Amino acid sequence: MRAMILEQAGKPLALRDCPVPGPRGRQVQLQVLACAVCRTDLHVVDGELPNPKLPLILGHEIVGRVTRVGEQVSLLFVGQRVGVPWLGWTCGECSYCLAGKENLCPKARFTGYTLDGGYAEFTVADERYCVPIPESYSDAGAAPLLCAGLIGYRSLVRAGDAKRLGIYGFGAAAHIVAQVARYQGRSVYAFTRTGDEEAQRFAKGLGAAWAGASDERPPEELDAAIIFAPVGALVPAALAAVRKGGTVVCGGIHMSDIPSFPYDLLWGERSVCSVANLTRKDAAEFMEIAPKVPVRTTTQPFALEQANDALNQLRSGHLQGAAVLMCD
Ligand SMILES: [Zn+2]
Ligand SMILES: [Zn+2]
Repeated sequence: MRAMILEQAGKPLALRDCPVPGPRGRQVQLQVLACAVCRTDLHVVDGELPNPKLPLILGHEIVGRVTRVGEQVSLLFVGQRVGVPWLGWTCGECSYCLAGKENLCPKARFTGYTLDGGYAEFTVADERYCVPIPESYSDAGAAPLLCAGLIGYRSLVRAGDAKRLGIYGFGAAAHIVAQVARYQGRSVYAFTRTGDEEAQRFAKGLGAAWAGASDERPPEELDAAIIFAPVGALVPAALAAVRKGGTVVCGGIHMSDIPSFPYDLLWGERSVCSVANLTRKDAAEFMEIAPKVPVRTTTQPFALEQANDALNQLRSGHLQGAAVLMCD
């Protein structure tokens, strides 16, 4: 199964046609200014995530300007610049939502997956799940903050107070997390594909204390590691690199199978956990911290019509930082 993309690109959506659940009165129409391209988009296109909305407009790192508001909209105003992240809607009633874990809501809807997203000129979102964009960011510069930044930030929080932090897979999320980690006084150890010296230089340029191949051992034991690459074999590799009591955080939505490994790698109270989606609290916290660091995003612009080129370049690993579709 292949998801269709750009199905409705160029056709402004009428509010009444929008499949966003919840009260229509809380929906806003947005002119898309920029939309970053995420690895998750590839997983959707490749049919690796179950039950996407079809046909589907991809894209969940949307920077847009509010062009119309529903009659009950109270948080946003016409002309405001906001971001639309992956978490597009939650039920607000289930045990997860009530416990502050709306990222796990079984009825949650996701932008560019179970809701139409931002590979388009216009989109529609529920105002309660939009996040204001800090003034200091350009449209393109802000777009990668909305998933690479938010999921990366949630992964960093799950890593606890680790001083020596390993990051496996040095793409869009890693290049943001590395900056926040450095700002927080941590040391970053960057792991890339074997022989990817360009990515290793990129990591060092962002302040990584060490950069090497993912099958190498870092010069010191790590307190925690975050895996952004969708490669299951990195789980035992990361476990071997963290100290006793350390954590390995899997930050991606999809990963190839994890090969079996000796219990010895897990023993010593090491733990493995995953990060699923994000909450609105993550978004608010990260948008507060990002301009303080300040997080600078490395982006490669593409025209909306070049969406497939952008996806192909992400797939082949030839992007540094994040691809951003300029939809304006
Ligand atoms: Zn819920
Ligand atoms: Zn994403």
